Amino acid sequence: MKLLQTFFLSIILSSSFIAQEIELKPQFPSQQEKTTEISLVILGNVQDAGFPHIACQKDCCTALFENPDKSRKVVSLGILDPLNDKKYLFEATPDITSQLKLFKNYASENSKEVPDGIFLTHAHIGHYTGLMYFGKEAMNASNIPVYAMPKMKVFLESNGPWSQLMVNKNILIHELNHKKELVLSKDLKVIPFLVPHRDEYSETVGYKILGPNKKALFIPDIDKWEKWDTDIIKEIADVDYAFLDATFYDGAEINNRDISEIPHPFIIESMKRFSGLSSEEKNKIYFIHFNHTNPALDPESSQTKIILQKGFHIARINETFQL
Ligand SMILES: [Zn+2]
Ligand SMILES: [Zn+2]
Ligand SMILES: [Zn+2]
Repeated sequence: MKLLQTFFLSIILSSSFIAQEIELKPQFPSQQEKTTEISLVILGNVQDAGFPHIACQKDCCTALFENPDKSRKVVSLGILDPLNDKKYLFEATPDITSQLKLFKNYASENSKEVPDGIFLTHAHIGHYTGLMYFGKEAMNASNIPVYAMPKMKVFLESNGPWSQLMVNKNILIHELNHKKELVLSKDLKVIPFLVPHRDEYSETVGYKILGPNKKALFIPDIDKWEKWDTDIIKEIADVDYAFLDATFYDGAEINNRDISEIPHPFIIESMKRFSGLSSEEKNKIYFIHFNHTNPALDPESSQTKIILQKGFHIARINETFQL
């Protein structure tokens, strides 16, 4: 009898210990799992300037200067192709150092930290300046393939310090073309396409990423949907996941200035545009590229709840999607 009591007691104790252990598991970074499928990993969801934002004295950032939140990284996607032991990065952000470390956790044990290719969207600071870490002062990398559109390629080739990365063969630029499919393997293809944006130094592109089973659309920066000569609703219909520019939520963030003056599609404008879609179509949409002022960055905010209630999603670091 005594033996039986001890037995049951030990079961109760061990099961409560397991429950406690599960509860204590941090959300980040323990969600990382090795995958055997071609998949897409969110490596960051914040606008170019990152989080906390330089010189910000508003509530959005003050606490974060004291207690940094390592889940707040600049927008980047990782694509894993375990079938061919390759991995690709979309965007080279100022947070690239920690993003490559995070990304490596999803790949095989012997996988190297450096990606097999980097796809750039445009020449704004959050989307390409991470390339600097491949140069002599940092990694002194060797011939990392970088995929860029023609103007972006010329910009990098003809302006220091980026040109030095080519002279020293740290990176090797491959030219992309509007709507021209690039075949990375028989199971993985990438199609860049031009979008309207503030193009001082380069074009701006979005990407369609085609896996063996599913397709993703990635448009981190774009002017208002109506300024694009392509119907975003048709583009969403053609894919399984759509990661879309969500820089600002509404006018409150910009001191109630007229939101029509700001080129990005505000989340409230996008939700209105997509309001007539079926729940299946809405379910494909993941907002990404949040300015530091955007309340949707906070998973507990009322704006986050509204977005989710309406059937859309918010892309958060470490989320993975099979392609
Ligand atoms: Zn941006
Ligand atoms: Zn801020
Ligand atoms: Zn931009």
